[in-house]
Amino acid sequence: MAQVRVRFAPSPTGFFHIGSARTALFNWLYARHTGGVFILRIEDTDKERNSEQFLKVIYDSLRWLGLNWDEGPEAGGNFGPYRQSERAAIYAEYLEKLKAAGRTYEKDGAIWFKLLGDRSEVYDEHRKKTVTKVKNAPSVIDDRIRGRVERTEDEDFVIVRSDGNPVFHFVNVVDDITMRITHVIRGEDHLSNTSKHVELFKALGAPVPEYAHIPLILKQNGPGKMSKRDQGALIEEYQRRGFLPEALVNFLCLLGWNPGDDREKMPIAEIIRLFDLPGVNQSNARFDEKKLAHMNMAYLLELPADRFIERTLAYFRKASPTTVAAADPGFFREVMLLSQPKLKGLEELPAYTAYFFTEDYSIDAKVREKVMGKGDPKVRLAELIELVKTADFSSDTAIEEALKALATGKGLGFGDYQSVARLAVSGTNVGPSITGMFRVLGRERVLGRLTRFAAAR
Ligand code: GLU
Repeated sequence: MAQVRVRFAPSPTGFFHIGSARTALFNWLYARHTGGVFILRIEDTDKERNSEQFLKVIYDSLRWLGLNWDEGPEAGGNFGPYRQSERAAIYAEYLEKLKAAGRTYEKDGAIWFKLLGDRSEVYDEHRKKTVTKVKNAPSVIDDRIRGRVERTEDEDFVIVRSDGNPVFHFVNVVDDITMRITHVIRGEDHLSNTSKHVELFKALGAPVPEYAHIPLILKQNGPGKMSKRDQGALIEEYQRRGFLPEALVNFLCLLGWNPGDDREKMPIAEIIRLFDLPGVNQSNARFDEKKLAHMNMAYLLELPADRFIERTLAYFRKASPTTVAAADPGFFREVMLLSQPKLKGLEELPAYTAYFFTEDYSIDAKVREKVMGKGDPKVRLAELIELVKTADFSSDTAIEEALKALATGKGLGFGDYQSVARLAVSGTNVGPSITGMFRVLGRERVLGRLTRFAAAR
């Protein structure tokens, strides 16, 4: 079989939407699965709406997701140019072919594509005018996802508007022919266009590609397709919030596809190995932000230390640049690694770790009230101060043993010391293990914090 050539063909609108990302991803997966070629084509014939800045959104999002294209803008290839705005000469050439085949005519300044078949004038109730209907044979599409779909075009359609601009259907098909696309994998919203496209392929004497129409993504709550205005719809949002692209990609794979068992978190190499078009569900997929957050957490948890630090550094440089600028790199690293097991997402990290990087952290009033209102916290604090002065701080275990010995000696529990110690050194009641906090903060800092806290009470 000839090498698979698939394309992702976005129109630059300024948004890169979850649905676009998934379409790109399924094309990319299919190319990688089959050893084929993944092409990026920019459908920018709508000149008013397109700008360089919008293109950058597409390139950046694809690159961030790791969906590298083999041919296309900035990558080159033998079938370019890859932007429709640069392909006018090719469209003119193919329009000539259609004209020469007697398949076009002009009406009202536009150029129309002429279907084959008997014609009759019919009054259309809906549009309240007389239209020309054509008795045309149906197009049968053996959709790789939807199965057999039959549709009949029964009216000629415009391929070049009166302003001289070619219409989407025409340029889309010409590009698929000239770029030798073997499989058209795209959103189900284009299924209704496919019979027009099949007619054009046939009229141009070109083989009709395989089709695979991916079901819609439904919004999280309620009926209807997810739109760019819906919460969580834009890729740049996840980028900004410090989501891991590999987690988002894994999540997107599961929006309409599964490996045939109930595995969810899977390495991309394994997904590439298993991905195939018949494995894509026919039914619509529902967006589930909780599931995405969960996936992200699972990926964060298992990131190796160096990669985790790379990610947190990159995130802090944007979200909290002063922290990174002021912190000792070794200390920053220890704080982050200590927080990693408790984390749901990078975006909570700056607040979660803030007290590590300043002596001017605030004390949560509610937590203070609760902790200081129970038992004998002032005595516990004094005991902790004495302990910290001399305890072995070389490891979490050593610190834990010292704390436990203190508690046991007084006939108390670990928790009686933990809550007041945590309140004093962090100002809150949530965070990493107290022993880890002690070790990372170090004896001097812990002692300083305990002492100041005790003095202020
Ligand atoms: N430019 C079209 C879109 O953004 C792509 C159509 C296709 O993939 O054939 O929906």
